[in-house]
Amino acid sequence: MEELKNIYNTNSLSDMPPEDFRKYGYQLIDWITEYLNDAEKYPVLSKIQPGEVSNQIQNNPPQKPEQFSNVLSDIDNIIMPGMTHWNHPNFMAYFNSTASAPGILAELLSSALNVNGMLWKSSPASTELEQAMLGWFRQMLGFPEDFWGIIYDTASVSSMHAIAAAREFINVQTREKGLAGRNDIPKLRLYSSEHAHNSIDKGALTLGIGLEGIRKIPVDDEFRMMPEKLSTAIKEDRKNGWLPFCVVATIGTTSTTSVDPVDKVAEICKRENVWLHVDAAHAGVTAMLPEMKSHFSGIDLADSLVVNPHKWMFVPIDLSVLFTKHPDILKRAFSLSAEYLRTGVDSEVENYMDYGIQLGRRFRSLKLWFIIRYFGVEGIQNILREHLRLGKLFAGWIDSHPEFERMAPTPFSTVCFRVNPGNLNEKTLDALNEKLMNKVNETGKLFVTHTKLNDKFVIRLVVSGIRTKESHVRDAWELIQKTYKEIKSW
Ligand code: PLP
Repeated sequence: MEELKNIYNTNSLSDMPPEDFRKYGYQLIDWITEYLNDAEKYPVLSKIQPGEVSNQIQNNPPQKPEQFSNVLSDIDNIIMPGMTHWNHPNFMAYFNSTASAPGILAELLSSALNVNGMLWKSSPASTELEQAMLGWFRQMLGFPEDFWGIIYDTASVSSMHAIAAAREFINVQTREKGLAGRNDIPKLRLYSSEHAHNSIDKGALTLGIGLEGIRKIPVDDEFRMMPEKLSTAIKEDRKNGWLPFCVVATIGTTSTTSVDPVDKVAEICKRENVWLHVDAAHAGVTAMLPEMKSHFSGIDLADSLVVNPHKWMFVPIDLSVLFTKHPDILKRAFSLSAEYLRTGVDSEVENYMDYGIQLGRRFRSLKLWFIIRYFGVEGIQNILREHLRLGKLFAGWIDSHPEFERMAPTPFSTVCFRVNPGNLNEKTLDALNEKLMNKVNETGKLFVTHTKLNDKFVIRLVVSGIRTKESHVRDAWELIQKTYKEIKSW
């Protein structure tokens, strides 16, 4: 009965025995090591059809325990074919999020410790490490000392909290009275550029601002918010009875990584007494490079800022950091006391549950601790610099090819381009570029995504994965040119 040996005994009423945990744990670590080392053997974009994974999962949960080794082998059989590999060096789509080995180990430890950092008392180490890590991270980015930080899961959630703080800042008693059905206050207005991420709109939707309460400010020919248009819009809105309360500027927009002029926007916000939130979810980490500082000019005037280490600092998803100069206002927006959560040290410590919608909190700061200590600030800076170099290299190849064109500046390592043989109308060009992207992605050797700029179909290639080297970027360029040649007769 050898194969029954590791089957769980339903009468044991306890967890997996330690010797089995060790055995399967080592097996899984070996599997992960091989996977990370050899991610290129998988097609970067999953080739399965919808339903192929779910069809292989039985409809009902097993009544009797199974061999755990069967569960592990189903990772290869069922899960892997349905994976789009974000860790693959040729994943150059969206804004990538790659998991570094120290980050993976921190995740493992975090789930093993399994603390809930809602209160200092519920896990002092979790609260204090988060405070310490956000101090390190703030220093790495060269942000002002009065930036207080908190970790949430995603930038969408960080920005939603920033917008809630902005709403609290104007003191219209939304905390007590809400917004609906009130005629004692004007309708609130939030401003962002046409290119802001739609998480800003979702945050505003969640907070009762409504789509009509969001005013999109036009951008210039480099996709940057035009500050004079913002200024005019705020003045116009005040005249028409709106209450401007929040401006969101972006450093590194999703489509092109354009950079809104934060310093000029900040001046307007100051003059108008409006909260300035900066979305630097992807590009914010580059503030740790002295040569990139010009993109962050005016940052010390922001009321809040979001940056996601899980996007471009090799932290396994999820980990987003919100910095704000006004933690008191954020706290005012969210804190509620409950007798069962009261502790004797509340006046001396930070209870992170007071600064957001969620009570329970994962021990995410371990990921920052492991990663920053393992790579050192210098190690992280060097990888970022290499990505920036590779982005420029790819942009140069596009610029020097007579039938390709760059569709936006490349301030970081995201290149927006299209093929344009010069004799096609815009509609045909859109179709050609969409076909090129789809054909490239179908090979399984590269994954890139698209956007629309001035209504034109544009392919985006992003270099930000920890395993992406110059050879991968060269291969990507070869593949794009080869695929274009193949479909040219189209
Ligand atoms: N802000 C920007 C500029 C983004 O590009 C993205 C996603 O790519 C987000 C916010 C949302 O990020 P998250 O998935 O962490 O919510």
